[in-house]
Amino acid sequence: MKGGGRKGETIAAQAGHYIDAGSGAVTPPIQPSVTFARDADYALIDPAYVYGRGNNPTVAAAEALLARLEGAEAALLFASGLAAANALFATLAPGARVVAPRIMYHGMLLCLSRLAAAGRIDLALFDAARPEALEEAITAAETALVWIESPCNPTWEVIDIAAAARLAHAAGARLAVDSTVATPVLTRPIELGADVVFHSATKYLNGHSDVLAGALLSATADDAWRRVGEARWLGGAVLGPFEAWLLIRGLRTLYLRVHRASQSALAIASHFEGHEKLDAVLYPGLAGHPGHAVAARQMSGGFGGMLSVLVGGGRAAALGAVSRAEIFLRATSLGGVESLIEHRATIEGPESHVPENMLRLSVGIEDAGELIADLEQMLAGAP
Ligand SMILES: *Cc1c(COP(=O)(O)O)cnc(C)c1O
Repeated sequence: MKGGGRKGETIAAQAGHYIDAGSGAVTPPIQPSVTFARDADYALIDPAYVYGRGNNPTVAAAEALLARLEGAEAALLFASGLAAANALFATLAPGARVVAPRIMYHGMLLCLSRLAAAGRIDLALFDAARPEALEEAITAAETALVWIESPCNPTWEVIDIAAAARLAHAAGARLAVDSTVATPVLTRPIELGADVVFHSATKYLNGHSDVLAGALLSATADDAWRRVGEARWLGGAVLGPFEAWLLIRGLRTLYLRVHRASQSALAIASHFEGHEKLDAVLYPGLAGHPGHAVAARQMSGGFGGMLSVLVGGGRAAALGAVSRAEIFLRATSLGGVESLIEHRATIEGPESHVPENMLRLSVGIEDAGELIADLEQMLAGAP
């Protein structure tokens, strides 16, 4: 394809070198129509579009752009990240075995746990901090799907995607990677052997905390992939055209935003490593982080905008620090242009295993020096 080898930055900034064939407009239109007309012979004008629950031109434009950024053959967009994941899980045979990390994005772990409790899947959780644990889990019984996340919420453990792909494929399983935190800017899981890439597009891909969206991308548009598309159609989980349009707009600045957040997160992590008021700084860009060696190999251009800190003095000290935030916003979520800070154990609730003194930081694109100063004054008041 002409221009197919261009860099992600160039593709994203131009929304795939978009020029409207009819008008010359350089931004794509929003197409809200839910139905698509036929000619006098009852043939569709464009066979791709029948009814809005199946597909929509604005959604398809966003999917084509994302597929190019991830190096995928096909992409599907959903009304949220969890809607996307549920469509994939819906294609598993009853009782199929799914292997996933014990510590991961809490909502996804809850979703898998509920499916297992209902007998829909057989869930095997492994300890991502132990290198041999994944192989043990995959080889313990016939496995259909290996679901990993990297870097992994909220400790930012890094899982070796190429190694996971080899292990999964040797056992006849498929590998899906939640790449929400890394984004295609820092990691391209399909090039490392993943079969499916998942994104909560709510986060970095859109980047402005104003769209809820999910994406699945596939290395090959095979039969299994067609069943995921059918699950979206019959589950009624397609993304709306206005949200797809906003997502295209957000993707134009993806590379700038992720590079800036990564630089600032590294500056913050380096500044606070060994700080007298902190028990630990968890960030894969720090040489002392257990995932650093794999991250340095697997990620390029930075280590992402997410980090966590363990505040000395426990739950009360962590909540005290958060109460003094002046620039960081006290809110859950991640990947927006504004920096967020959250007490993870409160957000996850009684089923959470995260330490009570953990604060999770989503670093935005503000001035890094001001973010560091805000964290310094938050900690200064701690015991
Ligand atoms: C937010 C998030 C999800 C869930 O996505 P929604 O868009 O909120 O449904 C899944 N995985 C990760 C890593 C996330 O951050």
